[in-house]
Amino acid sequence: MKDAREDILGLMPHEIVKRLQEMGEQAFRGKQVINWLYKGVISFEDMTNLSKATRKKLEDKYIIGSVKLLEKRISKNGDTIKYLCLLADHNIIECVVMKYNYGNTLCLSTQVGCRMGCSFCASTKQGLVRDLEVGEMMAQVVMANTHIKQTDERGIRNIVLMGSGEPLDNYSNVIKFLRLVNHPEGLNISYRNITLSTCGLVPKMKRLAQENIPITLSISLHAPNDELRKKIMPVASAYSVDEIIEAGKYFFEKTGRRVTFEYSLIDRLNDNVYDAKELASKIKGFPCHVNVIPINEIEDMPYKRSSESRIKVFVQTLKTLGVQVTRRRELGQDIEGACGQLKRSYLDSLDK
Ligand code: SF4
Repeated sequence: MKDAREDILGLMPHEIVKRLQEMGEQAFRGKQVINWLYKGVISFEDMTNLSKATRKKLEDKYIIGSVKLLEKRISKNGDTIKYLCLLADHNIIECVVMKYNYGNTLCLSTQVGCRMGCSFCASTKQGLVRDLEVGEMMAQVVMANTHIKQTDERGIRNIVLMGSGEPLDNYSNVIKFLRLVNHPEGLNISYRNITLSTCGLVPKMKRLAQENIPITLSISLHAPNDELRKKIMPVASAYSVDEIIEAGKYFFEKTGRRVTFEYSLIDRLNDNVYDAKELASKIKGFPCHVNVIPINEIEDMPYKRSSESRIKVFVQTLKTLGVQVTRRRELGQDIEGACGQLKRSYLDSLDK
């Protein structure tokens, strides 16, 4: 049964201070609690500079995160760590830390499952189970940050909302999470170091552009036209490629932040030279970036990874046509790096 107590990790610093004051405590006690929370303390008992009575009052009303680490997998070369986490209602989510030279990046989940139905994605198989609460998203960051800091004092520097779930489908919780993770009294992660990935929910992209949250917007396009996109992404029936690109331009105008288009290459489906040419013509003149990533093959799905030569030709075609393009580094394939896959194999192992 769900704990009736509120998750204190989902509260903004000023809310925590206010709650402490409502308990009859002075404001600085709230700041002490905040310090402990972001150091990764998981029990009020361990907040040793608070009186026993205060700790008890907090314990009666609040919990600290509701995410328990179930399993951790480290890739062979050590550059990717995947955390499998149990939620209070026994749902399972995952998050991944990727170690880059420019800093450690955490990819986190925003929903249990996803209802967007992208046909190449494992997260969507069970549909949407539920939205994650703000505290459940924060708990992923605090847990990964605390763990990484044991061996790397840099901690988590970048966050990408690219795990399971469509972040903009959990809009208000995600917006509060972004403000919280950026808060100077919290983890103070710069908006510039945060990337939100969306499959292209046009009205919410426009709303996000007006929030004064200058993060990087990463748009999962995966096809240059609606006909092809509808074959792999049901959301293409709701919003056209042209509307999505327009919304990307609006985001850029409002925030000054360059937009990234994600393009997963699927063998002989969307990796043709004419696809690259059509994509280049659609984004011509828009200062954006395209990330090309060969798809991770997953069980029960009909798609194959593009061959090396097809990947190279696709990328080169975009470059020749003036598109800023990067072939994204593939990480963690040996620990099942694509979203949802680790969780599925864990659940499968329970069945055996
Ligand atoms: S790719 Fe993203 S939006 Fe699409 S089903 Fe998977 S998690 Fe959802």
